[in-house]
Amino acid sequence: MATLLVRNATLMVTMDDQRREITDGGLFIRDGVIEQVAVTSQLPQQADEILNLHGYLIVPGLINTHHHFYQTLTRAVPAAQNVNLFNWLKTLYPIWAGLTPDDIYLSTQTALAELALSGCTTSSDHLYLFPNGSRLDDEIQAGKELGLRLHAARGSMSLGESKGGLPPDRVVEDEDAILNDSERLILAYHDPKPGAMIRIVLAPCSPFSVTADLMRQSAWLARRYGVLLHTHLAETQDEDEFCRTKFGYPPVEYMQTLEWIGNDVWFAHCVHINDQEIKLFSHHGCGVAHCPTSNMRLASGIAPVMRMTSAGVKVGLGVDGSASNDGSHMLEEVRQAMLLARVKAGIDGASFSGEQAPPLMSARQALEIATIGGAAVLGRNDLGSLEVGKCGDFFAVNLNRLELAGALQDPLAALVFCSPIKADFTVVGGKFIVKDGQLTTIDLPMLVQKHNQASRRLISNL
Ligand SMILES: [Zn+2]
Repeated sequence: MATLLVRNATLMVTMDDQRREITDGGLFIRDGVIEQVAVTSQLPQQADEILNLHGYLIVPGLINTHHHFYQTLTRAVPAAQNVNLFNWLKTLYPIWAGLTPDDIYLSTQTALAELALSGCTTSSDHLYLFPNGSRLDDEIQAGKELGLRLHAARGSMSLGESKGGLPPDRVVEDEDAILNDSERLILAYHDPKPGAMIRIVLAPCSPFSVTADLMRQSAWLARRYGVLLHTHLAETQDEDEFCRTKFGYPPVEYMQTLEWIGNDVWFAHCVHINDQEIKLFSHHGCGVAHCPTSNMRLASGIAPVMRMTSAGVKVGLGVDGSASNDGSHMLEEVRQAMLLARVKAGIDGASFSGEQAPPLMSARQALEIATIGGAAVLGRNDLGSLEVGKCGDFFAVNLNRLELAGALQDPLAALVFCSPIKADFTVVGGKFIVKDGQLTTIDLPMLVQKHNQASRRLISNL
């Protein structure tokens, strides 16, 4: 029985039902599960490992609900810097066609390393290209070695250009092969139990890259095994027009016709949705991965996040693919979510002059989305808050640092308002992934070197 005692934290944010913030707090974790959450004086004195966090802030581990790890290999590609989604994709698809199993492995480690250093303890990933023998197994292997919890989404594309889709034919797959491989992955890796490190998700890429039939078949397969469904939805105006022209419905209504509305589904983006669609999501329990940086980067628009959360929609946060962000820093994303919601509030308030201005998203609300919000989106009631019986997943930051100087009257708000910082400790299931600011499970300089080599090769192959 391995035990970890964390004590003397200057402030510990629990995100429990009462949203307790405990001064001089700590945790007692046994075999990866939280056994006590309390002020230090009430905690046990002994444990296999003791971490003294006087001067530190403890926060539940952040949960990333949307990403494409492989895109860390194609960040800031010159030709894709200043274009919108459809043109960005058309520029990058041919580069991505050169991905190899090794590239998937390396890029997974790079993305997860960045995430871990930004306080993330659980990430989903959406891999939808499998060129040159690449498999989701390559990502899962890399994830296991790095040590973050992973919800690996088996993505897919089947609607190539010749059939009216957006991707070139050479990067799409046969639909029977997609479904067979999806079932193989569920049987090989999906762990439905509390505390799971790996879960599989089925995730046809987007309305403009798969057929209606593949969407329906994927939903049927996912429900047979009790795994979640995920896709991109209502991201851009172009997508809205594509769906109306090709299928005769706007994106959300199209999902209804495919039986893709339910509490086992979460959508990335949902920028272009109206109040009626928000009500529909709330009623059926659909989740949303909000990706503010990506939406700004690709000029997609501003998702109505405050309207979604106040209507009771489950909302999590996603850094999105590293080619449309071009980073995987979860704390930075929390800050962007708060700031972008305020831009929207300003715009909406301006258009309703004379009435009361809409409320501003607070630092605590932004952090809620990134923790318990993300846990709800991924169907994880064992994650997202520091409570007895939940997984021992948290991160801690030293408050005595330049970026936070002058902001310590409210350390939690400082973490969101001030410049994004790196975690000093990131712990998953009681195990250190980051210790004293260093990753414990990989050789970071070596990884960066190999990653840059792979990136150069991919882009020069074009
Ligand atoms: Zn995406």
